[in-house]
Amino acid sequence: MNRIPDIAAAALACSESLVAQWLPDGKRQSAEWIATNPTRADRTPGSFAVNLRTGIWCDFATGDKGGDLVNLLAYLRNVRQREAAALIAADLGLPFGNSHATTPARARRITPPKAKPTPAPSCPPPEGATKPAPIWNHPRHGRPSARWTYTDAQARPLSVVCRFDFPDGSKDVIPYSWTGERWRWKAALEPRPLYKLPALAQRPAEVVLVIEGEKAAHAARALIPEAVVTTWAGGGNAWHKTDWRPLKGRRVILWPDADQPGLAAMGAIRGHLLALGAERVTLPTLPPGLPTGFDAADLEPAGLGRAFALALLAGKATAPEGLCPLCWARRVAAPIGGPTCPHHQPVSK
Ligand SMILES: [Zn+2]
Repeated sequence: MNRIPDIAAAALACSESLVAQWLPDGKRQSAEWIATNPTRADRTPGSFAVNLRTGIWCDFATGDKGGDLVNLLAYLRNVRQREAAALIAADLGLPFGNSHATTPARARRITPPKAKPTPAPSCPPPEGATKPAPIWNHPRHGRPSARWTYTDAQARPLSVVCRFDFPDGSKDVIPYSWTGERWRWKAALEPRPLYKLPALAQRPAEVVLVIEGEKAAHAARALIPEAVVTTWAGGGNAWHKTDWRPLKGRRVILWPDADQPGLAAMGAIRGHLLALGAERVTLPTLPPGLPTGFDAADLEPAGLGRAFALALLAGKATAPEGLCPLCWARRVAAPIGGPTCPHHQPVSK
């Protein structure tokens, strides 16, 4: 064996044990190893991924990438490809080039493959595990009033976001998730899947509409069926716990909630999507004067539909200053907060 591609092919045959040594803080997610990038200050896994079947790797945050495990090790150790290949060959007990290709001074030896137990892969729940009805009953709250299921790309359930409405008008949202061993009332394993992940793959050419919250996502899907609508679990502060890589190469429109946390979350998501290679990411400017927290689920109760949603996403749903944009869309010139506008009265959401 004297060629780097031969070593790369041999490395691929035991990719998981090699990559687990090189990136020990990572874990397997289906065919990929997700870790932090040790060559930079990277504290949260998610953007650095190695495909264990192909050897293709990428840091979606920096754009660094390569096509095999030899150049991955060269990148991680900051050595030349030939040197990385020699390290791998030595590790696997394979002959490679001249024995002096790596001098002890330059080559930091890598530990033998059996040094570290491989973390268990995140396995999907067994077939039918989610089916029996009684498991939806929360020990204190009983049956949820609504639930939204997050799946992997093969439509296998991973987490169910359950909403409970209480007699006093309050609500609680509790996820019921596959932990790798069983279903529990806790948040999904990270990185979490995007909502409706299989639909994203099934409609690869469609625009993706990202909404905050599952209820609003369903409302938007009814209004704009030609887009693939998705959201993420856990709300504005938890967006970074979701794996956004399925949106690489996609045209994306973000529909923020009309409040400061909602706008901040979408602004951060926009930056993340652009960094990981989304083709286009649009964050429309919402019209001034929307009720606080206004989202897609508020359109229908306001008597508005698709036309207003499209105008809003195009940034064209503006009303003359001081007038309520929702009333304006219904051809009523109502001052914000005035007696003829029902949209700006204090409400509990
Ligand atoms: Zn109004």
